[in-house]
Amino acid sequence: MLKFWPTTVAFVLGLITFFVFQSSFHFNFWYLIIWIKLYAIIQFCGAYFIGLNFHLTSINSLNTNEKKVLLTFDDGPHTNTVKVLGGLKKHDVKAVFFIIGKNIQGNEAILKQIVADGHQIGNHSFTHHNFIDVWPTKKVSEDFAACQKLIEHYQPNTKFFRPPYGVTNPNIAKALKQLNLQSIGWNVRSYDTSIKDVEKIKQRVLSQLKPGAIILLHDRLDFMPELLEVLIPAIKEKGYSFAEKVN
Ligand SMILES: [Zn+2]
Repeated sequence: MLKFWPTTVAFVLGLITFFVFQSSFHFNFWYLIIWIKLYAIIQFCGAYFIGLNFHLTSINSLNTNEKKVLLTFDDGPHTNTVKVLGGLKKHDVKAVFFIIGKNIQGNEAILKQIVADGHQIGNHSFTHHNFIDVWPTKKVSEDFAACQKLIEHYQPNTKFFRPPYGVTNPNIAKALKQLNLQSIGWNVRSYDTSIKDVEKIKQRVLSQLKPGAIILLHDRLDFMPELLEVLIPAIKEKGYSFAEKVN
């Protein structure tokens, strides 16, 4: 699998080779453009596809061959989380909730309920800022630490982290190392924030089910309780059970 540093070293060596030998071998200028574009494409994919483990190693699936899957919910706590918790309790399913620090204020009782119901919680940054991927390491680290401090109050020793938007880069990797947090990705993306159609999302998730699947959902969405009401029985009908923890 490609990693950030080896590809960057290879890119720089390629540039040096180009400039050193361009006069002697009459290299075509377009080779340089293709080389830069190739590097840019690799960087883009590495940052935006968490499953590639390009900048850091995330847990993107459960370590099992059994027909077990894990539901994960991002962006709470939110008033909609209450109904999500009700649905999970009704079907006796545990999940992992990745919490945004700034969303805790006013929703403390909901977060308390998540933990009391036996679910795991993890860090999803304090601000979930749109430009967190261009922030320097110090600022990123302070943001993650602020959320960590709050969620440890509810579930001590939690070490799980999900990058906002699933974006990773060298600064985020450094911050997670400093804070000793483990990144958790996914290998089933529901696209629930863009599809917004319960039946289509259900079919999308079912078509990607596999042993050890980690499924990405968002508890803040209005239709999430409705989706769970059809999705959980459909997953069980396919012979799958639900994992209680990441690993
Ligand atoms: Zn998020």
